[in-house]
Amino acid sequence: MSIAHPTWIEIDLTQFEQNMRTICSKVAPAKVCVVVKANAYGHGLLPIARAAVASGVDQLAVAYLQEAVRLREGGITHPILVLGAIHENQIPDLLRCDLEFTISSKYKGELVAKALRGIEKRCKVHVEIDVGMRRTGVRIERGLELIDALLEKGCFEVVGLYSHLPSSDLPNSEATQEAIERFTLLAKEAKKRDPSLICHIANSGAILHYPNSYLDMVRPGILSFGISPGGSLSGFNVSPCLSLKAHISYFKVVEQGEGISYGHLYKTKEQSRIVTIPIGYGDGYRRALANRAEVLIRGKRYPVVGAICMDQFMVNIGQDEAYVGEEVTLIGKQGIEEITIEEISSLCDTVPYEIFCSFNHDRLPRTYTTSPAIVTESLIYR
Ligand SMILES: *Cc1c(COP(=O)(O)O)cnc(C)c1O
Repeated sequence: MSIAHPTWIEIDLTQFEQNMRTICSKVAPAKVCVVVKANAYGHGLLPIARAAVASGVDQLAVAYLQEAVRLREGGITHPILVLGAIHENQIPDLLRCDLEFTISSKYKGELVAKALRGIEKRCKVHVEIDVGMRRTGVRIERGLELIDALLEKGCFEVVGLYSHLPSSDLPNSEATQEAIERFTLLAKEAKKRDPSLICHIANSGAILHYPNSYLDMVRPGILSFGISPGGSLSGFNVSPCLSLKAHISYFKVVEQGEGISYGHLYKTKEQSRIVTIPIGYGDGYRRALANRAEVLIRGKRYPVVGAICMDQFMVNIGQDEAYVGEEVTLIGKQGIEEITIEEISSLCDTVPYEIFCSFNHDRLPRTYTTSPAIVTESLIYR
């Protein structure tokens, strides 16, 4: 059930599907495993997963078990890889939901094997190699040894070998190129044991800048949503599919020299028309945007003035006109003007990833459109 709310996130599913098809055809014959962790980067887990499946991706990946379970409960039957380290008490659910998961140490292998004693089922696992993140993953020298140790246990089917790059968003990095080459050599060796082993290392940055990283499969996250991890899209024909919109909730005229919002961080330079927008930091519209961000009304940019409150903020429209109930675009296009996620994230001194993830799922409903603009679903995802 959806409850009418004056502020919402709008996802253009047609654009998303076009992005997925672009990525699939660019990396072919490599497979595509779309990464839909963190509520599909704030875009809504199930609608995005369904659209990705419809546009031909081979597999999905998430960070946590709970996200994978939600996908299964939502009817997704594609292979799902849980990227994050697993914990002992998660093993029953991993098996029940037929999930592929990551093993990145002998210790975890033994833990799972112990939990599997007496159970017939073999589990599909991917071995994770560390090529420089120093996060999870076994050292590259230990890769083959770990694969052999898992195979020996008899309860594992090692279906994948993967790694994650720490700085693939930078083109022409020697360290990245070297990491890809070292992983590729290991992949060759590992495939001698099993030629069907799926080897994968490319995230969005590597898909854009390092075509030799595609191997058997790629794992695009942010690129699926039309955003480059580091600015340049390297000629990839993908576009953003998320807009953040609201209806103006209040209008008032403020005299010259009057302070606006908490702490009066802003004072009017002249008599001004001030409109109130019903979204604040409690929804994920960050406090750092005070006196810095702009919004679009009637195709024109206007400044955010004064502190961002938990549930609302103010915009100075000068001497212009705007009515209560009119649509405001906080991220996205209006006519020829556009406010990008990059503009907002750089004002907050962060990356688009963090802004996407900070949109509050409980407060902001997601609305899905397909071109030509038809609203298909309007749901709040928890
Ligand atoms: C998040 C993640 C990705 C996707 O990263 P993007 O930069 O969004 O493409 C790929 N692989 C792993 C292991 C991840 O954690």
